[in-house]
Amino acid sequence: MSGRFIPYGRQYLDEADIQAVTQVLRGDWLTQGPSVGWFEKSFAAHVGARHGVACANGTAALHLALLALGIGPGDAVIVPSITFLATANVVRHVGADVVFADVDPHTGLMRRQDAEAALKRAATRGWRVRAIMPVHLAGQPADMAGLADLAAAKGLVLVEDACHAAGTQLAGADGSTLMAVGACDRSAMACFSFHPVKTMATGEGGMVTTNDDELAAALRRHVSHGMSRDEADFTRTDAAYGADGKPNPWYYEMASPGFNYRLTDIQAALGLSQLAKLDRFVAARRTLVETYDRAFAPLAPWLRPAARVADAAPGWHLYPVLVDYAALGLDRSAFMGLLRQQGIGTQVHYIPVHSQPYYQQLYGPLDLPGAESWYRHCLSLPLFAGMAMTDLERVVAAVTDVVTSRVPASR
Ligand SMILES: *Cc1c(COP(=O)(O)O)cnc(C)c1O
Repeated sequence: MSGRFIPYGRQYLDEADIQAVTQVLRGDWLTQGPSVGWFEKSFAAHVGARHGVACANGTAALHLALLALGIGPGDAVIVPSITFLATANVVRHVGADVVFADVDPHTGLMRRQDAEAALKRAATRGWRVRAIMPVHLAGQPADMAGLADLAAAKGLVLVEDACHAAGTQLAGADGSTLMAVGACDRSAMACFSFHPVKTMATGEGGMVTTNDDELAAALRRHVSHGMSRDEADFTRTDAAYGADGKPNPWYYEMASPGFNYRLTDIQAALGLSQLAKLDRFVAARRTLVETYDRAFAPLAPWLRPAARVADAAPGWHLYPVLVDYAALGLDRSAFMGLLRQQGIGTQVHYIPVHSQPYYQQLYGPLDLPGAESWYRHCLSLPLFAGMAMTDLERVVAAVTDVVTSRVPASR
């Protein structure tokens, strides 16, 4: 192994991040102090949404979105099978059913036709579909125009799993300009994760953005036990008000039980400091992706980058390539092992969620050929904001070496 290990992803922290956190530690608040509100406002402003509700992690963000919509037992939600487990699991956490959708085998993204097929399948089961949760895999946006059109026709809500897509831009509903994912131009809510492998990090952390005042209020209730101190929510007028007719200072009410999904001020301070660098992170990732693309062009058709969607400027979270392991006579585990020997980390995003034992037992077998094909070929190569060009060159050299050493001599 030559040089230090290059992981498939990692956080980028600088002195400003460390100072932002230590400043909170020297102050008065650890959990919900002023930094949480600043982070929410700053993040919402950055993506162009009315509201941002910070929470404990991306999974909590997705769970909160479904809770705010009142989705529960008897309902169903369409989720692409190529995603992290959490996208599907939160549907089960609210007691609803998951309708797994197929994906484009070249991008890993759910298409309109995949959501339509999922709707038909749900109908044969007698399920009442309420929402579609597109995933912007690797930072490339799903077909929001097509999915929004379908959602409008069928009376469904769109909730974006934007955990990969901080910094991604796509053509807005007016078709003219690029808008940030999170602006909720065509969706009810967008959910972000600030896990260290994602584009910006708070340790654990998440955010839901929305333009809907009522959804924002519901998200805020559910993030903290279902408690409300807002007079507009008070129903027990006898208990809520004192003799002077003013709300009692200690008073709160709960209409339904929520969770403790709060973000801390420590994490929010780190989030603010990272947000200030988000545009730079995204620019660095785009440069790395363009350099990879050029370097790997000669390796087609044995290895090619995931196909690119039109009308978008991705905030790349991952760099997935599709490898024809069969043609190379090398299985993926051996391929990953050869790269690991060169100090290069890779990962598979993702094992189709519908094939997990829990979902197999719950729903029986399901044939999603696009998802299976993506899974069979995909491999995520190292990509992170602090990745040096010399690191990238090491990855390119090692990958090129593994592929060309296997390519039939007739080439
Ligand atoms: C990371 C991720 C999540 C969950 O986010 P956490 O912050 O780890 O809870 C959900 N969906 C996708 C697609 C993710 O990549």
